[in-house]
Amino acid sequence: RSNAEKFEFQAEVSRLMDIIINSLYSNKDIFLREIISNASDALDKIRFLSLTDKEVLGEGDDTKLEIQIKLDKEKKILSIRDRGVGMTKEDLIKNLGTIAKSGTSAFVEKMQTSGDLNLIGQFGVGFYSVYLVADYVEVISKHNDDKQYVWESKADGAFAVSEDTYNEPLGRGTEIRLHLREEAGEYLEESKLKDLVKKYSEFINFPIYLWATKEVDVEVPADEDDSSEDEEKPESTDGDEEKEEEDSEDEQKPKTKTIKEKTFEWERLNDVKAIWLRSPKEVTEEEYTKFYHSLAKDFGDEKPMAWSHFNAEGDVEFKAVLFVPPKAPHDLYESYYNSNKSNLKLYVRRVFISDEFDELLPKYLMFLMGLVDSDTLPLNVSREMLQQHSSLKTIKKKLIRKALDMIRKLAEEDPDESHDKDKKSTEVEESKENDEKRGQYTKFWNEFGKSIKLGIIEDAANRNRLAKLLRFETTKSDGKLTSLDQYISRMKSGQKDIFYITGSSKEQLEKSPFLERLKKKNFEVILFTDPVDEYLMQYLMDFEDKKFQNVSKEGLKLGKDSKDKEVKESFKELTKWWKEALASENVDDVKISNRLADTPCVVVTSKYGWSANMERIMQSQTL
Ligand code: ADP
Ligand code: MG
Repeated sequence: RSNAEKFEFQAEVSRLMDIIINSLYSNKDIFLREIISNASDALDKIRFLSLTDKEVLGEGDDTKLEIQIKLDKEKKILSIRDRGVGMTKEDLIKNLGTIAKSGTSAFVEKMQTSGDLNLIGQFGVGFYSVYLVADYVEVISKHNDDKQYVWESKADGAFAVSEDTYNEPLGRGTEIRLHLREEAGEYLEESKLKDLVKKYSEFINFPIYLWATKEVDVEVPADEDDSSEDEEKPESTDGDEEKEEEDSEDEQKPKTKTIKEKTFEWERLNDVKAIWLRSPKEVTEEEYTKFYHSLAKDFGDEKPMAWSHFNAEGDVEFKAVLFVPPKAPHDLYESYYNSNKSNLKLYVRRVFISDEFDELLPKYLMFLMGLVDSDTLPLNVSREMLQQHSSLKTIKKKLIRKALDMIRKLAEEDPDESHDKDKKSTEVEESKENDEKRGQYTKFWNEFGKSIKLGIIEDAANRNRLAKLLRFETTKSDGKLTSLDQYISRMKSGQKDIFYITGSSKEQLEKSPFLERLKKKNFEVILFTDPVDEYLMQYLMDFEDKKFQNVSKEGLKLGKDSKDKEVKESFKELTKWWKEALASENVDDVKISNRLADTPCVVVTSKYGWSANMERIMQSQTL
């Protein structure tokens, strides 16, 4: 095109496109759901804008918030259009090529190792999946604030943008035209497209139409002679008897026949019934799984670990579905401290508002996926106003409660978790369902345990509830995970505190002289080996009226020994000498202790000082 401006793709984007084009990935189907998902996002955006400004919707067809798919078999073009928000010229340049999103390089890296292209949507680069099936793509777009523009690229490192003086005016929205590759002919089959929409785009909340062939019955004259006869027949209504007889005879042998003729019409491919509006009893496990996949943009075959679908009533009414994903996302903890990215979508009365609403869940629960649809929040206010709305606090509180319940149930239903194993195994029938649930909490813990720990640190109001979800190994747990409740149930009579020790590994800790005597006396000690545990234990002071005692710190009480005083007296001179010899800037005190068995002496930390492990962590952080 003569008026085209040329641009180069940002380097990472270019690499990504190369990978896609040369990919041997067999499941090319995914491009359609990425394009439909973008169309749906664009429709969500314009619908959201229309809440505060009706004008943006325009008039006529522009007000129809829908997605249309059309095929051109001869030219081998598949086009998908939406009446969403559209893109300005600048949007086209930025969003489709020059500004790489944070996920681009992460995805490129992933693809180079053991890439599953299926996850492309999660990395925010789903659009480029069109090059799995097309070698030339046009994006025609009209945004309210700009003229109609065309973006086009043959994925050869460059793209062009020009004012669209070639095509019909679109009205508001975007049309993606895919010039299909030779081997992608199957995407010109209507049945294929219908299947794909059913499979992947079932939960899109806008109508999706296909310009589909339809066979209709058409009445045509039976044959040429008949019809000419028919025409020649006089239209008289003489009332002549003979004529009438002739007429009725004529009607018996058909003058017309029915043939099948092909026409086109818009065929609706999805029904937009929101799953969260249905009663939880009516929704099947399979439907929840599919819904999760569409929310997570993850179309593998893994089921979510758990879900909670509920309807909150009272002052603040809302419906919500929460999922625990089968796996932690690739950047869960990487982005923990510098982003507030939540995976919760907020709807108000069925209208999508935002998926960047960090007021709904605390940070530590951001690994959950799901959706909240509120009837109480106002529709016609800005996002900023909404963010300050008083019912958000109530919603958040209830969501946390439900989320923690859901996680607690994961543990309760896991046969491996039962406190009294002998009793449980006779009680609970060994069913298939039980087998499926076996080990599910360990799986949860391995993926998201750190989030529970961060929760204990951050959420004072739910600290005790979260502490119940905590799992760890101990000197007696035999390599398995155990809980605080289980620890307490095994405490020795007379033991007041919960003993723990922190360090960099289990092996290192098990050799620790601090444990010698505790082991001899048969006390159980929790082994904390995750760096975050040090921080955790600064917040977790007690549990069910029991205090936590770090066994490498001052204050360890294992019960009195009658000889204690005597021993102390006889070593008085020695301890005094030690204290002077070590000088006060190095040690606070030198004491006779009963915590050791074989080792002659240890350095312990004062009650409120940093443990040796904490020193180690702080040092590694400042390096
Ligand atoms: P993501 O959807 O995760 O943002 P994509 O690669 O799928 O990433 O899309 C890139 C961007 O291109 C979108 O964020 C959006 O700004 C823009 N875009 C793509 N398709 C459309 C569309 N149909 N209408 C409006 N904008 C679109
Ligand atoms: Mg997308």
